[in-house]
Amino acid sequence: MSVFSAKSFRNHEQVVFHQDKASGLQAIIAIHDTTLGPALGGCRFWRYEDDAAALDDVLRLSRGMTFKAALANLSFGGGKAVIMAPPGAKKSTALFQAFGRFVNSLGGRYVTAEDVGTSPRDLEIVHGVTPYVAGVADGGAGDGDPSPATAWGVFHGLKAAVAASFYRDDLHGVHVALQGLGHVGGYLAEHLAQAGAVLTVADLDPSRLAWAKANLGAEVVDVDKIYDVAADVFAPNAMGAVLNDETIARLRVRAVAGSANNQLAEDRHGQALAERGILYAPDYVINAGGIINISHEGHAYDIDRAMAHCARIHGTLDEIFQRARREDRPTNEVADQMAEERIAAHATAGGVGLRAAVG
Ligand code: NAD
Repeated sequence: MSVFSAKSFRNHEQVVFHQDKASGLQAIIAIHDTTLGPALGGCRFWRYEDDAAALDDVLRLSRGMTFKAALANLSFGGGKAVIMAPPGAKKSTALFQAFGRFVNSLGGRYVTAEDVGTSPRDLEIVHGVTPYVAGVADGGAGDGDPSPATAWGVFHGLKAAVAASFYRDDLHGVHVALQGLGHVGGYLAEHLAQAGAVLTVADLDPSRLAWAKANLGAEVVDVDKIYDVAADVFAPNAMGAVLNDETIARLRVRAVAGSANNQLAEDRHGQALAERGILYAPDYVINAGGIINISHEGHAYDIDRAMAHCARIHGTLDEIFQRARREDRPTNEVADQMAEERIAAHATAGGVGLRAAVG
């Protein structure tokens, strides 16, 4: 397995492999860039097909975190951890303690958090071994659940997409086709309904659908029909890669704005959306509310300030949309470039983050 020539390797600063025989832990931490500060990113617990798949995931995700923090104007770099789930995918206290020691060994260059497959309880165990954990309950930022903050940021990002597509500042009567009513999608649907939007929703969980129908007046469609709904905005809040050759051709909306990570199956799908006249709110920009909330953690946590910061995603997206229009380029490309420019400007100004510490 190659690292420096792996397809997702893009100038990562550090990639560390770790095994703890006693607990069965096999994990990789990738630190993509610490120019802006310590590398922050969740820990994923997943049953990977092989080591190469785990490496590809951690390299891709850590780079995404760099861009996400940069465009949210945070003093964090980008990192990520993956734990290769042992046979039977069994979690244990010993496994997460071993992971905590691994995180600790990096001396704060990487700060971990919850991600797919890890729970607040797992992170509490990690936190028992290392201080380098974000989003845990004692940080003062609520109960450690990032979803309300993420949903608040997505709500404001969706408003920016509506403003840019329909030249209007309110959501009254705006029709949103919403995929996924989970932690984020549920809060988002509530905000949208409160703002007067009309909702058509799809979810695999019938209880979530019944809730949205009864409480938000939402119309329900089958999961595979959500792409065909004639609406104003498509809001994906479930899985990744939902914007692909097949679905983009079916979409009957003017904008895509939702919380899901890695929405574009491939980068070229950003261009495919633009060619169909569909405005895409880049996923890592619109879903940054959780990490923005983490940046406010601490004993002086002020929820109003944190939520106001999440709402500023609107302004960041305005900038991206305007530049994309001016330069006639897809929004995902413009977002990547803006993130790279912010990091370069910070480095030029002498703020070299943690790079200085490691020489
Ligand atoms: P979740 O697991 O709570 O919710 C996902 C929902 O999608 C569930 O209700 C599930 O039943 C539904 N779903 C799954 N497959 C579906 C399908 N094919 N069609 C329709 N619905 C389907 O997850 P979440 O925390 O709400 O996160 C949603 C997305 O946002 C994920 O992609 C996640 O990575 C991303 N995200 C979440 C946060 C956060 O703060 N939780 C932050 C950034 C990004």
